Amino acid sequence: MRTYTYKLRPTKAQAAALTATLDTCRHLYNRALAERKGGWEQEQRSVTFAAQCATLPAQKRENPYLPAVHSQVLQNVLRRLDRAFDNFFRRVKAGEAKVGYPRFRGRGWYDSFCYPQWGNGAKLVDGRLVLSKIGSIRVCADRPLDGTPKTCSIVRKADGWYAHIACETTDTPLPATGESVGVDVGLTHFATLSTGETLANPRHYRAAERRLRKAQRRVSRRVKGSKRRAKARTLLAKAHLHVQRQRRDFAHKTALALVRRFDGIAVEALNIRGMLRNHALAKHIQDAGWGQFRQVLSDKAASAGRVVVAVNPAGTSQACSACGSRVPKKLSVRWHSCPYCGCELDRDHNAAINIKTRGDTAFGEPPALAAALNREPHTL
Ligand SMILES: [Zn+2]
Repeated sequence: MRTYTYKLRPTKAQAAALTATLDTCRHLYNRALAERKGGWEQEQRSVTFAAQCATLPAQKRENPYLPAVHSQVLQNVLRRLDRAFDNFFRRVKAGEAKVGYPRFRGRGWYDSFCYPQWGNGAKLVDGRLVLSKIGSIRVCADRPLDGTPKTCSIVRKADGWYAHIACETTDTPLPATGESVGVDVGLTHFATLSTGETLANPRHYRAAERRLRKAQRRVSRRVKGSKRRAKARTLLAKAHLHVQRQRRDFAHKTALALVRRFDGIAVEALNIRGMLRNHALAKHIQDAGWGQFRQVLSDKAASAGRVVVAVNPAGTSQACSACGSRVPKKLSVRWHSCPYCGCELDRDHNAAINIKTRGDTAFGEPPALAAALNREPHTL
């Protein structure tokens, strides 16, 4: 599945209809959530998705807003709630701490609705998106759809309306290159490869950090509930959107370059959730960038017939990539200098080679480095 995003240019009336649809969906979501909650709390009765769908026709007769929304869109709202409950129960069962019960959605906390079946309520006609009950909307089509469209979601963002069209595509495997690589994430560089190359931190990280900080300050200075604060919040949301887009662009370009060159890509297994709890803004931006890069990399690799493995990161920076000896060093020491075999390398380069070696073991091939050095493969 590949999702294509198109910006929409609705007329004023269409924009109002889109907003009204979101409101109706949100109310339906909240009512359905209340029904499930009440059913359980009062009678220990669990309400199913199918049962809630069955009540839709009767609700439509009583509520004049519901018939103004395509019925599959309404069903999809109930489906979403059902998924929220599934996730909730799965996480409770798994014994996760702090699992939140599905929440009621306030204004501004419900930003998308979905036509789950392409051609049924949503279709493209002459370059315009025709949505049932809303109209034929102008689309900024910057690239054509590739594959068979399956679903269409309409999303409200800080700078307008968007359509996400998910298409089923066929994978096109790239020719094998016989090369593998290890990738080490760092603080000085975005990443270092086992080839010794470094991927620089995108320059926009610093600028983004400055802009976000400024926008955040502007919001906090203004009076709660005021129009000026609402405006400042929109600007903050736009700044976030801008960062997200730059990050996505960088992730796609970088991942594509790696996938083209290497059959096997080894990265460190990292606890992204733990990382994102870090509140330092600079670190947060960097971590989010790495998290998204990892996601894009695995998606691209999968569709190109490449393999990405996440290896155990323990000791990758301490072990010598040439002889396997442990060479302890503090985080501030940027150079790996092995007293046992005389290996001299940049700290991150050394770590990247270790990651590659672990990856090669996981790919099921003889560790290339050990073969090159004509030594027995060692476990790090
Ligand atoms: Zn050594």
